[in-house]
Amino acid sequence: MGAEILVVEDDPTIGRSLEQALTGEGYDVAHVTDAASAREAFTVAVPDLVLLDLGLPDVDGVELCRELRALAPATSIVVLTARQEEADIVVGLDAGADDYISKPFRLAELLARVRAHLRRPELHLVGERVTAGDVDVDVAARRAWAGPRELALRPREFDLLVLLVSEAGRAISRERIMDEVWDENWHGSTKTLDVHVSTLRRKLEEQSTPSRPTITGLPRFGYRLDVE
Ligand code: CA
Repeated sequence: MGAEILVVEDDPTIGRSLEQALTGEGYDVAHVTDAASAREAFTVAVPDLVLLDLGLPDVDGVELCRELRALAPATSIVVLTARQEEADIVVGLDAGADDYISKPFRLAELLARVRAHLRRPELHLVGERVTAGDVDVDVAARRAWAGPRELALRPREFDLLVLLVSEAGRAISRERIMDEVWDENWHGSTKTLDVHVSTLRRKLEEQSTPSRPTITGLPRFGYRLDVE
C-alpha cells in the first residue's frame, strides 16, 4: 500500500485534481475541505504527508498547521498558499510546515516535492552515532541530545543536524545540504533551508551546556557547525 496523504483544500477544482493525480501515483489519498474534517481524519489515522491549503473556510490554515504538527511530529506538512508574501511563508514554516508551494503550481513540481518528502533520507551515516561538543546524535534511532537533554526535532531538522554534526568544523555548501537533506531534484526555493537552520539554531541555543555547538552562516556559501 502506498503512503497515506491527506489533502486539505476547499477549492473543489484543485482538490479533485490533486486527489486524482496523487491516487494515480499510487498514494492512498483522503481529501477534506475544512479544518474540522482534517482534525477528524487525524483521529482515524495519522497520514504520512499533508497537503494543506492555508486559506480554509473555518480556521486559518497556519493555526491548523500548528495543531497538526503538535499531533504528528513525524508527518510531513506541505502548505499550499496563494499568499506570496515572504512573511506569510515564514509564518507557515514556523508553524511547523516542512515546505510550501505557491499557487498556482505545476502538478509535476508538486508531485516531485511530495516524492521528495516521502523518500527516506539517504544520509551516508545511517546506523552510526555522531557527536560534536555536547551534541550527541544516534542516527539509527533518529534521536539527538544536547548534554543530558533530548532535542525535539522535526524530520528535516534531524537530518540537517546529522549532516552538520558529521561535518563539524567544515563548511558545507547550500547545494550539498539541499541534495542530502532534501532531494537532488529539489526545484523549490532554498528559503526552506534557512528557516530550518534558524529553528535548529534556536533549539540548540535553548540548551545551556558547556560545549555547545553553534551554526555559523557563511554568506553566499552555506553553513558550518562550530564547537565553542
Ligand atoms: Ca482555499
